[in-house]
Amino acid sequence: MKTIAEIDPLTAVPIVEFLKTAGIPCDMLSKTDENGLDVTELVVGDDHFEKACEVIEQWDAQRMAEVERLAQRRCPFCNSARVKFVDDLDYKKSITKISAVYRCDECGRITVPRG
Ligand SMILES: [Zn+2]
Repeated sequence: MKTIAEIDPLTAVPIVEFLKTAGIPCDMLSKTDENGLDVTELVVGDDHFEKACEVIEQWDAQRMAEVERLAQRRCPFCNSARVKFVDDLDYKKSITKISAVYRCDECGRITVPRG
């Protein structure tokens, strides 16, 4: 068995559903991280590991596309429209980093999209 992600329990549920739809059985293990927060560890069989990573990436891309669609593309600090989507997905460094942000070209500040 291999861990594919450690995420908050609410985010875990739709991912597990998405994996199931893709034909990948996935176990959820509850644990507490180093900050004392409840996290859910998603575990798949070794044979499914590669595929599961692809599926999660897909899921995340879909989710981010939706967030991007809904997001107001303006910097909340300087109101510039020159905000860029920054993909922060790097499974090699940290498979738990399922997130993406916007960076403003004008003032350089980072915005985390809601939702
Ligand atoms: Zn700005």
